[in-house]
Amino acid sequence: MVRHVAILGSTGSIGVNTLDVIRSNADRFQVVALTAGRQVERLADQCIEFKPAIAVVSESSDAAHLQKLLLEKNIKTQVLYGAQALVTAVIESGCDTVMAAIVGAAGLVPALAAASAGKRVLLANKEALVMSGNLFMQAMKNGGGELLPIDSEHNAIFQCLPNEFAKSPHASLGVEELWLTASGGPFRNTPLQQLTNITPEQACAHPNWVMGRKISVDSATMMNKGLEVIEAFWLFGLPLEKIKVLIHPQSVVHSMVRYRDGSVLAQLGQPDMRTPIAYGLAWPERIDAGVAPLNLTQLADLNFSEPDLARFPCLALAFAAAKAGGTAPAVLNAANEVAVAAFLDDGLPYLQIPVVVEKTLNAVSPVNADSLETVLNADTRARKIAHEFICSL
Ligand code: NAD
Ligand code: MG
Repeated sequence: MVRHVAILGSTGSIGVNTLDVIRSNADRFQVVALTAGRQVERLADQCIEFKPAIAVVSESSDAAHLQKLLLEKNIKTQVLYGAQALVTAVIESGCDTVMAAIVGAAGLVPALAAASAGKRVLLANKEALVMSGNLFMQAMKNGGGELLPIDSEHNAIFQCLPNEFAKSPHASLGVEELWLTASGGPFRNTPLQQLTNITPEQACAHPNWVMGRKISVDSATMMNKGLEVIEAFWLFGLPLEKIKVLIHPQSVVHSMVRYRDGSVLAQLGQPDMRTPIAYGLAWPERIDAGVAPLNLTQLADLNFSEPDLARFPCLALAFAAAKAGGTAPAVLNAANEVAVAAFLDDGLPYLQIPVVVEKTLNAVSPVNADSLETVLNADTRARKIAHEFICSL
């Protein structure tokens, strides 16, 4: 069976890796929709190569530019723009599989649309699940599609769980704990006083993974791992206290499941997102991902340690938001998006990122996240407060 794939965020790091896996398995996949924010030329190249039915960009001027580039090459792709067009790309492109790889809250609405429409959802956009976990899982259930985690840790856990896991309560299957591994990012050992002057370039230079800028900063602060704890909570339905974080600087063990009988199952591999992407695309089959084989004899050590919450206050804030529940994770996420953007583009000092997040969390009381409107209101409110706080600095 040929899968018809829509890629939300095709010009990003995950999007490009997804197209690479598809390129190597052209007999199995047909690309029917590609979307990007503003990288028109890269999207044009992708459309020329993969000839999707629909392509989407954010702005009308970019859509006109894209249309022109495609007409020059006689490509018949329908070009659309704006947030609603992302939903159109999911619903009207004829896709059965959606790679949700837009970064941040901007990906929530189209990811939810894919969930409700019963698609196979390959979820990279963890922020969508962090914001709306309950609603998202309910939409998946109602839609009747398949949710496959692409985040490497969650993909690893998915691979280490029994096949029946999705249908049965975890207790009966003997799952005791999930262990999410974390590299600790570029500042795992940096003396704390040196963190004051960290530049965006330093924060984005991840030791093991090549990723988009926002998630790279999140990895440096370990907010990424905090978001991933919340993501795991919703994906796998275990109580929060059974989801643990372990620092593992080599990024070879991508995560683990501890069972009641003493067994610990781990998934290992190169730090290359094409492995989890290929797994999600072809599941339950396995296809060539273009990833180099892992050579364990070339690895000196595999180390594991507890994270230091004083060094990584964002991780502690994420635990607190997870515990508070309701709209607190959406507020955490929104404040973090604003703070990270201000750090990357407007000179907000690195160490102010957790301060902005904490102030915002304290200012917005959580309520039940029982509708999309409530979640989006919390997101808007938190962004406003985070902006105001940054402007006051
Ligand atoms: P990226 O910044 O490289 O790419 C983001 C994509 O989203 C681009 O195509 C961009 O054009 C698009 N986009 C951005 N803002 C948009 C908007 N407002 N409207 C429409 N499109 C928009 O990011 P990435 O590293 O590919 O990460 C994508 C998602 O996957 C994130 O949620 C990230 O946390 C998650 N993720 C990434 C990795 C990784 O290795 N890169 C690993 C795990 C999870
Ligand atoms: Mg991850």
